[in-house]
Amino acid sequence: MVDAHQTFVIVGGGLAGAKAAETLRAEGFTGRVILICDERDHPYERPPLSKGYLLGKEERDSVFVHEPAWYAQAHIELHLGQPAVHLDPEARTVRLGDGTLIVYDRLLLATGAEPRRLDIPGTGLAGVHHLRRLAHAERLRGVLASLGRDNGHLVIAGAGWIGLEVAAAARSYGAEVTVVEAAPTPLHGVLGPELGGVFTDLHREHGVRFHFGAELTEIVGQDGMVLAVRTDDGEEHPAHDVLAAIGAAPRTALAEQAGLDLVDRTGTSGGGIAVDSSLRTSDPYVYAAGDVAAAPLTLAQDAPADTRLRVEHWANALNGGPAAARAMLGQDAGHDRLPYFFSDQYDVAMEYTGHAPPGSYAQVVCRGDVAKREFTAFWLDADGRLLAGMNVNVPDVADTLGQLIRSGAPLEPGALADPDVPLTALLP
Ligand SMILES: Cc1cc2nc3c(=O)[nH]c(=O)nc-3n(C[C@H](O)[C@H](O)[C@H](O)COP(=O)(O)OP(=O)(O)OC[C@H]3O[C@@H](n4cnc5c(N)ncnc54)[C@H](O)[C@@H]3O)c2cc1C
Repeated sequence: MVDAHQTFVIVGGGLAGAKAAETLRAEGFTGRVILICDERDHPYERPPLSKGYLLGKEERDSVFVHEPAWYAQAHIELHLGQPAVHLDPEARTVRLGDGTLIVYDRLLLATGAEPRRLDIPGTGLAGVHHLRRLAHAERLRGVLASLGRDNGHLVIAGAGWIGLEVAAAARSYGAEVTVVEAAPTPLHGVLGPELGGVFTDLHREHGVRFHFGAELTEIVGQDGMVLAVRTDDGEEHPAHDVLAAIGAAPRTALAEQAGLDLVDRTGTSGGGIAVDSSLRTSDPYVYAAGDVAAAPLTLAQDAPADTRLRVEHWANALNGGPAAARAMLGQDAGHDRLPYFFSDQYDVAMEYTGHAPPGSYAQVVCRGDVAKREFTAFWLDADGRLLAGMNVNVPDVADTLGQLIRSGAPLEPGALADPDVPLTALLP
């Protein structure tokens, strides 16, 4: 039973944490809500950090989830700039870096993820960057502008979403850009080999150089400044700055220390805190949501959720925070959304719905004009069931793609490829 004297604590002030706090109040919870975050900024959204904000098109103020004054109005107690350093699930306490001990009735871990670091010589040089926080984006924005002015060279390690979005931003400032990627195509682990080439062409047309099949082995510097990078195939590329965009790792330290169940990091699930479909961890009073949580994945409606997946995307934090808040309030609210994400690069806007990593699908079918980057791609399993869909510069189809995935119905590749057959006509 939840009553007005209870204390709900949220560790992590990203989108999932902020939305959970908002939902607790929206659902009428009148007890204490305490939000703890090791960052000093109020909770903000990260997608603009590699897009509008990095490009200088969006103001700093536009990234925040709520106005700072909202937290006081909603009686959310904020502990900003304070890490939660110890969790005791037996005593139901969480201790902050400054020694403050907080007793909770329910706890939400929304600790997100942190950039993976390059483990090579030279990573301590001043020109080596990561992009996760507002402060990183502020710094990178200045770096890109000065590289653009001075004809400087940015090397990006990793052709994932963040690497590619930063490549697009850097080109818009006029910087020289080389992307070094171990796989043979960009976004290989998400799109497979079939469609990564779309993004290679897009970026090459905008002047980005790619070096595929290689990994950085050294960042060469002089007097603390970056001069070049070396790759494992013996090549050297000039560089004034380097962005390590080689993925993110879930921030599970607190959960691990508290003995909560985690998902194996070595598999394809991406590790994370194991939660059930209500986002409850192995401790009945502790929940997890957003980038840090590995929740059961169900694609087709009637399929068994036999695998857990950590979804590192905005929509998952946006919906997962509120779902966890409702579950903390004892509501029977499952979090059963299909993975979804979006990206903007140059004039290309794409959305991806579902989950179809290489090895899981039998074929890819496209409708529309792939060369003109106006198309929808469908990843099908051996029975013709849709696992994932990506719409590139085609608006308003993501919901239908989700319904087709959920239906679990076998689809005719010819009909999927035919632009004259409305996608909605394929719904059972
Ligand atoms: C540059 C960038 C661009 C992105 N673009 C897109 C996009 O275009 N589309 C898309 O779908 N997704 C995108 N994402 C992903 C999306 O932003 C994330 O999925 C989302 O931020 C996850 O929210 P979260 O609240 O789970 O975690 P986070 O946003 O990581 O927030 C977690 C917070 O908890 C804090 N914290 C961690 N541990 C502790 C602790 N022990 N004590 C106190 N505080 C702690 C962290 O410092 C952080 O502030 C992007 C991410 C980045 C970094």
